[in-house]
Amino acid sequence: KKWVYLFQEGKADMRDLLGGKGANLAEMTNIGLPVPPGLTITTEACNEYYANGQQFPAGLVDQIKEALAQVEKQIGKKFGDENNPLLVSVRSGAKFSMPGMMDTILNLGLNDRTVEGLARATSNERFALDCYRRFIQMFSDVVLEVPHYQFETVLEKHKERLGVHYDHELDVATLREVVKEYKAITRREAGVDFPQDPMEQLLLAVKAVFRSWNNQRAIVYRKINGIPDHLGTAVNVQTMVFGNMGNDCGTGVAFTRNPSTGEPVLYGEYLINAQGEDVVAGIRTPQPISTLQAEMPEVYQQFVAVCKILENHYKDMQDIEFTIERGKLYILQTRTGKRTAAAALKIAVDMVNEGLIDRKTAIQRIEPASLNQLLHRRIDPNAKLDVVAKGLPASPGAASGQVVFDADEAEKLGLNGEKVILVRMETTPDDIHGIIQAQGILTSRGGMTSHAAVVARGMGKPCVCGCEAIKIDYENEQFQVGERVFRKGDIISIDGATGQVIAGQVPMIDPEISAEFELLLSWADEIRTMKVRANADTPEDAAKARQFGAEGIGLCRTEHMFMAQDRLPIVQEMILAENKEEREAALAKLLPMQREDFYGILKAMAGYPVYIRLLDPPLHEFLPNQEELVVEITTLKLTGGDPAVIKAKEQLLKKVRALHEFNPMLGHRGCRLAITWPEIYAMQVRAIYQATAQLIKEGVDARPEVMIPLVIEAEELRKLRELSVQVAKEVMAEYGVEVPISVGTMIELPRACVTADEIAPHADYFSFGTNDLTQTTLGFSRDDAEGKFMQDYLDQKIFAENPFIVLDTRGVGKLMKMATQLGRQANPALKVGICGEHGGEPKSIFFCQEAGLDYVSCSPYRVPIARLAAAQAAL
Ligand code: PEP
Ligand code: MG
Repeated sequence: KKWVYLFQEGKADMRDLLGGKGANLAEMTNIGLPVPPGLTITTEACNEYYANGQQFPAGLVDQIKEALAQVEKQIGKKFGDENNPLLVSVRSGAKFSMPGMMDTILNLGLNDRTVEGLARATSNERFALDCYRRFIQMFSDVVLEVPHYQFETVLEKHKERLGVHYDHELDVATLREVVKEYKAITRREAGVDFPQDPMEQLLLAVKAVFRSWNNQRAIVYRKINGIPDHLGTAVNVQTMVFGNMGNDCGTGVAFTRNPSTGEPVLYGEYLINAQGEDVVAGIRTPQPISTLQAEMPEVYQQFVAVCKILENHYKDMQDIEFTIERGKLYILQTRTGKRTAAAALKIAVDMVNEGLIDRKTAIQRIEPASLNQLLHRRIDPNAKLDVVAKGLPASPGAASGQVVFDADEAEKLGLNGEKVILVRMETTPDDIHGIIQAQGILTSRGGMTSHAAVVARGMGKPCVCGCEAIKIDYENEQFQVGERVFRKGDIISIDGATGQVIAGQVPMIDPEISAEFELLLSWADEIRTMKVRANADTPEDAAKARQFGAEGIGLCRTEHMFMAQDRLPIVQEMILAENKEEREAALAKLLPMQREDFYGILKAMAGYPVYIRLLDPPLHEFLPNQEELVVEITTLKLTGGDPAVIKAKEQLLKKVRALHEFNPMLGHRGCRLAITWPEIYAMQVRAIYQATAQLIKEGVDARPEVMIPLVIEAEELRKLRELSVQVAKEVMAEYGVEVPISVGTMIELPRACVTADEIAPHADYFSFGTNDLTQTTLGFSRDDAEGKFMQDYLDQKIFAENPFIVLDTRGVGKLMKMATQLGRQANPALKVGICGEHGGEPKSIFFCQEAGLDYVSCSPYRVPIARLAAAQAAL
């Protein structure tokens, strides 16, 4: 039976036998990548080991030896050689990844003699000894079950004695002493000498990995994740390669395309004479990969070829870790590379053009929410900038804010609504809370793949890193660039697309949509079945919405038009009117203003529908605040104010008091207002159709649809529809033009959902107002819940997500489905859409597709996101 496979003997689809890691190493080897050679011991061998009463199956040891001999040939080193020893790693690798559950041993093959060989081969005695002491600890811990704290105590003791902090500060003499003490610990605790025979080490290690399949952690992990116990683990034995053996060695990380812009050029960095951690840790600032072309032309060419192979194979941009040992390139890992939204778009579109993927795949590759990054502001290119330094452009977007050096402080200020730029020498995972609250990140050390850069890109946050010109002084809370000093609290700006660091605030401009963005969205438009409209209530917003591809306006709120400075007094006149005549007089003054509003919006949306919602909020929102009014009146009285003014204010106060509601959100608002005062809606409808008639006369294709809010009962809608139709017909007669009349309703209360079949015959369309529908279905005040208790619900996992952001599909969604079905049964021509905040949220959009909605409507800036999400939902 074959128990052992060389990497070149395996394939990606042999995960059952070789485990996930083994199969991937085999795949990479077979597509021609220079993977450090190695072998995989099968999961069957593991299972046989258990079936045999924890004995190796017959033939396994011989097969391991044979395969290892092949590996030695490939790499040109010998296991146990005293001059240039082959060292290996031994790792577990089950069919399903079980991160950290089983054991790993590195640097296996070291002993008292080979360690000297390694020291000579690397001309680095310190390094060789450090590898050896790590190996003794790891091996003793994993194989011989010596508790690792014993070793750590020894190390600490030496560090203390020498007064140093870090392992790498220990000198050669100390490390020799450490090795001696480590071996003594093993002898004492395990009752055996640390094995010096490399083959014995290897076989013991393989057994230990087999055993680790049944350690407590692994068993629990399998139970939780539903992984069957009988699968067993494979064992990978792989040649160790070192990037720190001298100046013809190095290590690096590179992306096959630029992860920031998507440009199809290699992008990455490397360090000569270094190990993997050194690049990521940001202790030395690495060289850009392009320099490798001059420094090691052959290695570079080879690497370029590898990148090509990998992209063609995986059909996506790859993030590759490599090591150069003595001028020879090795690929240690490849995975799909993380990227900014701009890069994701460019890469997806380029790969379609290169014939690597199809359009559907391209659409599915883009995370809709990530497009947010592209819809952000950037520095006005015409602005005069006081550029003080330049670092690496690590994550695009621009930000201004006050300088802060500490993550805790960044968090505190950020939560207070202040804009800060977190300035650090480098960042670590401990700084994450500060990064989240900062507008942008600036570091003085570390490259494009340093922690700060990777994290910022993931969050779509501007970041400039490796800006070595700035000298940070944490103690005095300042940084210096040349002669200039920036203290904590000073305002700076950073541009993550150019790497510029700029003094002071800078003017920003709105984003534009790139050609790739436009193209990908046009593919999305071909696929999606739901229309995407915008919530907009000014001609400017309407124009912006059109620019982002909105197919009409799904919600034009009219209350903002009532709030304008010049209108508020007239609106107040209307509200304070004692009788119908007075009210109509005020409304007559508002009519031409509203007509002008609608004229502008309908014109900006020519050719597309505009759903205009009639007045919705409770009227007291247009009146002064009660307490303020009382204070004002009292002050006037005490200071001998004009009695006529005082009298008028007192009148006002009386009315304000009369209109006061305990629960205005559940009060006299929406269509309830028009049941009491139909003339308000009549004026609005008149304005809508007058504007439309005028536009039609001017040859503009204006398409208004009247939308009645907060309906709960068919009879409300019947009456208000009748009113609307009557007014519309009057206007048509007056202007002598025909305009198609459309009257629909918002569905935003549970009763409306439940009686949708009764309401639908009076409606041309339903538009779900999921803000109110969520508020009323949950019984949570939408204005208060988020500040008061929502976080508790999320923290305690009562809710997985905030239902005001992501649609509560099981509750609110169920009502929506019910209303859609009932509504369409009663009125097959009924159009159904959504205009609550959820209309621009990808998960909610998926639900809308499932519920069979005809359109979604969201804020203009979310229109591109909705177009893409709707396409994905339709696929
Ligand atoms: C809604 O309730 O979802 C809605 C769109 O209306 P508003 O937010 O204006 O109440
Ligand atoms: Mg509402």
